[in-house]
Amino acid sequence: MKMDGEIMQAGGDTIFGQIIRGEIKTDFLHEDDQCVAFDDIEPQAPVHFLVVPKKPVPRLSDAQDSDEKLMGHLMLVARAVAKQKGLSDGFRLIVNDGPEGGQEVMHIHVHVMGGRQLTWPPG
Ligand code: IMP
Repeated sequence: MKMDGEIMQAGGDTIFGQIIRGEIKTDFLHEDDQCVAFDDIEPQAPVHFLVVPKKPVPRLSDAQDSDEKLMGHLMLVARAVAKQKGLSDGFRLIVNDGPEGGQEVMHIHVHVMGGRQLTWPPG
């Protein structure tokens, strides 16, 4: 895969890259040519899944203008999987960015949480 002039491993080198490439067996809630969705391994709500693009953008701060459609796609997949999970009373999307944003895996992802009353503000 060629990206931004460099040869990169499909999915990148994080744990999410390994999941995308099937090196770590994971049940996908959704997969298409642009992204996958799977349950978070440490759920913070009764429903907690992640939507992860196959393109290894490290963090939102690194997303390019050309990623606009991809970023929108992640939100619509989040909506579709939330519906599939029965979250008819609402849910929350979170994108952590960088150290102060609490991001641990440097491959951009959307958290989707629901199934209980969520409080505000998050910690
Ligand atoms: P971050 O803090 O926004 O980067 O969130 C990373 C999330 O990935 C955390 O909620 C972790 O629980 C989750 N996570 C890490 N490793 C795995 C895995 O192997 N499978 C599913 N979720 C994972």
